[in-house]
Amino acid sequence: MSEDARRAEIAANLDRVRERVAAACAAAGRAAEEVRVIAVTKQYPASDVRVLAGLGVRDVGENRDQEAAPKAAECRDLDLTWHFVGQLQTNKVRSVVRYAHVVHSVDRPRLVTELGRRVRAEGRALTCLVQVNLDPESARGVIGPRGGADCADVPALAEAIEAEEGLSLGGVMAVAPRDGDPLKAFDRLNAVADDIRGRYPHATVISAGMSGDLEAAVERGATHLRIGTALLGDRGLIVG
Ligand SMILES: *Cc1c(COP(=O)(O)O)cnc(C)c1O
Repeated sequence: MSEDARRAEIAANLDRVRERVAAACAAAGRAAEEVRVIAVTKQYPASDVRVLAGLGVRDVGENRDQEAAPKAAECRDLDLTWHFVGQLQTNKVRSVVRYAHVVHSVDRPRLVTELGRRVRAEGRALTCLVQVNLDPESARGVIGPRGGADCADVPALAEAIEAEEGLSLGGVMAVAPRDGDPLKAFDRLNAVADDIRGRYPHATVISAGMSGDLEAAVERGATHLRIGTALLGDRGLIVG
């Protein structure tokens, strides 16, 4: 595909996403400015990040350090806000804190101390979201790797982030379980977010909603949407 065709395709996708967000906000009685779209650019090249930036997108999300680090370096001149949204191993923290402004996937105490230590060593600052596990099956260890902390462990993690110099608590993040009603899942997230905001009034971020469930997320109070497929296309169809 030519550069112009790709630009036109992404621009049309972005229009559609913005329309969906506006409609969801209107339906929920919320102002469109309350909701930010993070473009999740994983598996897509830095040239697409550049196109998105040209269209006014300021927030970019990635889920693997091996891919994100070189992409962020290539796009340094764009002055974007980089969100790390994937599961984070402690041995990747040193690299991630060099380019990320927000880490959405903080789910264990060990990660908090490592993020703090490494971010101070870089002389930077980092906003952290506590990732909440909304899937009762994986929470009980029945299926899959556990991404996110159990709801009961969220307050202690929030406190640990706040106590760590160089880190600030932004709020909470979650991925809706694959099956089940996303509205119900985001209801649970909203309750956790309420509790955290009661303790830390500045921790207002609710990162929820992806291409398939952004309407439900907006309905249940999401402030940040992480949108990949709807902006850049189906990652299963990437060739070459
Ligand atoms: C890939 C990814 C997204 C984007 O998902 P889409 O369905 O492509 O919009 C959002 N959040 C996380 C954590 C992801 O890994």
